[in-house]
Amino acid sequence: MTSPRAFLRCPHCDTAAVVRTSVLHSKLLRESLLQCRNALCGHTFSAYTEIVRTVSPSACPSGDICLPISSPAERAALSTGGAEKPMPPAKARR
Ligand SMILES: [Zn+2]
Repeated sequence: MTSPRAFLRCPHCDTAAVVRTSVLHSKLLRESLLQCRNALCGHTFSAYTEIVRTVSPSACPSGDICLPISSPAERAALSTGGAEKPMPPAKARR
């Protein structure tokens, strides 16, 4: 049995971080307080988790949720592990 991948890694030492607490700002945005598991580092930081796109539509959609559908290129990047690498800045939409 494999362990799940870390939600986030410490930006300083690249060790897995654990979520200590979080607050829901909206249905699409959560802010979490994380702590690095490396005792020699001890970095504590906050991060936002934002739902930004739909990959596969919901079978029971909510009328107050409006998300763009991911493009084939975005789906390909996620399925090949491209999300583990830093992504270039998003292009501005007009
Ligand atoms: Zn660390």
